[in-house]
Amino acid sequence: MQLYKDQELKIYNSLTGQKEVFKPINDGHIGMYVCGPTVYSNVHLGNVRTFMSFDVIFRYLRHLGYKVRYVRNITDAGHLENDADVGEDKITKKARLEQIEPMEVVQRYTVDFHNILNTLNFLPPSIEPTATGHIIEQIELINNIIDNGFAYEVNGSVYFDVHKFDETNEYGKLSKRKLEDLIHNTRELDGQSDKKNPQDFALWKKAEPQHIMRWPSPWGDGFPGWHLECTAMSTKYLGETFDIHGGGMDLKFPHHECEIAQNEAAIGKSPVNYWMHANMLELNGQRMSKSTGNTINPHELLSGDNDKMSKAYSPSVIRFFMAQSSYRSVLDLTDAGLLASEKGYNRLMEAMGLISNLKASGSSSININEWLLKCYDAMNDDFNTPILIANLFEGAKYINQVKEGSEMLTSDDITLLESSLNTFAFDVLGLLKDAEVQSGGDKLAGAVDVLIKLRQEARANKDFALSDQIRDELAEVGIVLKDGKDGTTFTVN
Ligand code: AMP
Ligand code: ZN
Repeated sequence: MQLYKDQELKIYNSLTGQKEVFKPINDGHIGMYVCGPTVYSNVHLGNVRTFMSFDVIFRYLRHLGYKVRYVRNITDAGHLENDADVGEDKITKKARLEQIEPMEVVQRYTVDFHNILNTLNFLPPSIEPTATGHIIEQIELINNIIDNGFAYEVNGSVYFDVHKFDETNEYGKLSKRKLEDLIHNTRELDGQSDKKNPQDFALWKKAEPQHIMRWPSPWGDGFPGWHLECTAMSTKYLGETFDIHGGGMDLKFPHHECEIAQNEAAIGKSPVNYWMHANMLELNGQRMSKSTGNTINPHELLSGDNDKMSKAYSPSVIRFFMAQSSYRSVLDLTDAGLLASEKGYNRLMEAMGLISNLKASGSSSININEWLLKCYDAMNDDFNTPILIANLFEGAKYINQVKEGSEMLTSDDITLLESSLNTFAFDVLGLLKDAEVQSGGDKLAGAVDVLIKLRQEARANKDFALSDQIRDELAEVGIVLKDGKDGTTFTVN
């Protein structure tokens, strides 16, 4: 269904700093690129938050009926420890420390990344390209940039000439930085770099003899620069200009700024119409950082095996918690926050579990269509998941009101409420019906069956006082027994 035809989706574009009405380049189709992980260590919860924000965005765009090509890469080479193109390659360093092959590092942490995302009920992207699988494309891009006069080769490395680029283009337009300020704020080169200016960045780095990850190129053996990888992979699969590019806020500069410069220098076109940045995840009010120990990984959060939280949390509770704040706000991961989300999630699931037993009326006292519009309005307002969740709770309230008899719904409205709640909770937010919630229902049914049997025994023994007591006390807690010719059944009110 092409729902998007009736919806006006607005996206906050980091490039313009404004919410803009979304218009894809090709009607009904969307190209979306999200910078993937550098697979040199286990994925942390901060990474998970960014990827989850885009998973929900991907899910909603698909729900609206768009055909989305979602590309999320794997950075398996070229990401140096330091943004200024110095330091070791992160993957090579890990391989050296652990005395294994770089590709073993890549394999181990790619598998971990996929496992954790599967556990957390992510949809896979449409294409998941690797940087090492696109060396030829990257060399071609560098050649174009050199041919257009925006890059220079020194000593087997190739650098992007930021100063030259800024004469005709605008370097810094995404991160709102000016080249003069950058010049002012960067320290002088200490003579060890081949760069003309400290603001220049590497497109290709010469591989020293001990560097294992190396590829032949027109400039000798080397490896690609990190920023270049994303430009090569995004343009290859999505075109020279595509709709949405996402990543964490920390990638705005220099990574995404450099992607824009590379595209403009190579092709003469700005690569992206809507730049989207997810905000950072903190832990107990402080930046998550491995060096200070203020960190918790997804496995630890899911298993409860950590000293930061009081218990284990399910994938759905983690998803619910993250969706309770906008992707553009800083989010603080705390035990109290997760406990509150767990309660909220259970409350929503319990209410949704009751909907099939609601009694339909001849007319409705609540306008379900209006409520549904509010759910869409929330998501159309730059994917405002906290407002959507507030609306889902409103839907849960309706269920309880109809159950108690203070409001009425027709059978069509009950069906619409049920399908809409399912769509937004499961398809869009990616929640699951947790086994605990489900088995809670199963356990309740089992326990009531035991009481029904005891009541039958009491009646067989002519102990009507006890049988009535069982029926009345169950009714008091909202469980109504009904005697029929095929035995006794119950409903939960
Ligand atoms: P990396 O593997 O370091 O390249 O990061 C993968 C993605 O996670 C990038 O989009 C980062 O911006 C994002 N990211 C890293 N740290 C955090 C954090 N603390 N909170 C949210 N996103 C993060
Ligand atoms: Zn990237």
